[in-house]
Amino acid sequence: MRGREVDVVIVGGGIHGVGVAQAAAAAGYSTLVVEKQGLAAGTSCKSSKLIHGGLRYLESFEFSLVRESLRERELLLTLAPELIKRKKFFIPIYPETSRRPWWVGVGLLAYATLAGFSKHTRFHRVPSEAWENLDGLKTKGLQTVYQYWDAQTDDAALTRAVMRSASALGAELLCPAMFISAQVDAGGVEVKVASDGQEQEIRAKVLVNAAGPWAAQVLAMVVPELQPLAVDNVAGSHIELSGQIAQGCYYLEVESDKRAVFVMPKGDRTLVGTTERIYRDDPDTIEATDEAICYLLEVYRKYFPARDSAVLDSWAGLRVLPATSGAAFKRSRETQLPVDDEQTPRILSVFGGKLTGYRATAEKIMSILCKTLPVREAIADTRKLKLSPE
Ligand SMILES: Cc1cc2nc3c(=O)[nH]c(=O)nc-3n(C[C@H](O)[C@H](O)[C@H](O)COP(=O)(O)OP(=O)(O)OC[C@H]3O[C@@H](n4cnc5c(N)ncnc54)[C@H](O)[C@@H]3O)c2cc1C
Repeated sequence: MRGREVDVVIVGGGIHGVGVAQAAAAAGYSTLVVEKQGLAAGTSCKSSKLIHGGLRYLESFEFSLVRESLRERELLLTLAPELIKRKKFFIPIYPETSRRPWWVGVGLLAYATLAGFSKHTRFHRVPSEAWENLDGLKTKGLQTVYQYWDAQTDDAALTRAVMRSASALGAELLCPAMFISAQVDAGGVEVKVASDGQEQEIRAKVLVNAAGPWAAQVLAMVVPELQPLAVDNVAGSHIELSGQIAQGCYYLEVESDKRAVFVMPKGDRTLVGTTERIYRDDPDTIEATDEAICYLLEVYRKYFPARDSAVLDSWAGLRVLPATSGAAFKRSRETQLPVDDEQTPRILSVFGGKLTGYRATAEKIMSILCKTLPVREAIADTRKLKLSPE
């Protein structure tokens, strides 16, 4: 591989890495993804698996993020109908719920407006006679239940499907292969990776650092040294319980801290998540703590007191969020895309972001990198590429 040349090298085979591979290959660029472990081995198999606008981000006024995510949700539902399914979401409101019915109604109206009104952006109050059918949801004290629509996927399967689409356009995957270093010079980037016990050198025009919670580590291996971005890795845990939630997903408020927790179907199990805790250790060792498991179980038992709550599995992933002093729950979810040089970007890093927005993020990345990349003839449009399960 010594002396091999490609236009774009991407570090990381998570949803962002494969999304950029698809967009770069579609734009006609030779593309190589370097992944140390396996496709979707990092955060992209540890998400809540929602393809959604993010109703709660309206509370932090992230309107453009919500609008873009809702647009992407609709597009992905048409591109990947076997991988992404529309789901009913229920919001129950009790006397102690801090978000009162009128407030939730306003939020849902704004959500529907940002999505563009259609059959699937409608929301309504579930009549009280139908509450008994809501998977055993506690009805004592229940005042209102709203129902709206969002979508759910299998995040790892989606990641693999996007990589297959990228491969069909000519992108290559080197896996397992560890990125070791990058040296930027006037003409491009000299990239070193270790694969099969051997060091390989690849000459690239640009390097995309899509290493998720490892992105700061990858950035530290670039010469000349780049200014690190002020970010925190924030751990989010999920638990999987026995028994299937059949009617849809439940959007619940935690009484103690007012955070939102989702209860969702996952095959024949029930998925409950998530938590938020600043995590400063090695991203390779992240796992759900006993404290996080207890917190999620407590929420579940409060809202579904009669259901079985045997924990079959638990796991955690890492969000990359801006390092501010506020609570993790309230920090911006906007993706940050810093470059080494605004005029001639050679190194671009992806910090944060959402599974839902991967395609739009990849398009933004290509529009930044086109300042440096040569002009090539596009061979496809990612807005039209169907994604199918294996
Ligand atoms: C708890 C939680 C819940 C979430 N829920 C949702 C949700 O419901 N909906 C939504 O839209 N978004 C959600 N998100 C956000 C979403 O999951 C992430 O934004 C997304 O998965 C990040 O993908 P990524 O490609 O940036 O990173 P990752 O998936 O972590 O990929 C990075 C990859 O880089 C590889 N790598 C690292 N270092 C190297 C190296 N030196 N050499 C080679 N490879 C390397 C890793 O092995 C890994 O595969 C959630 C996030 C969390 C943490």
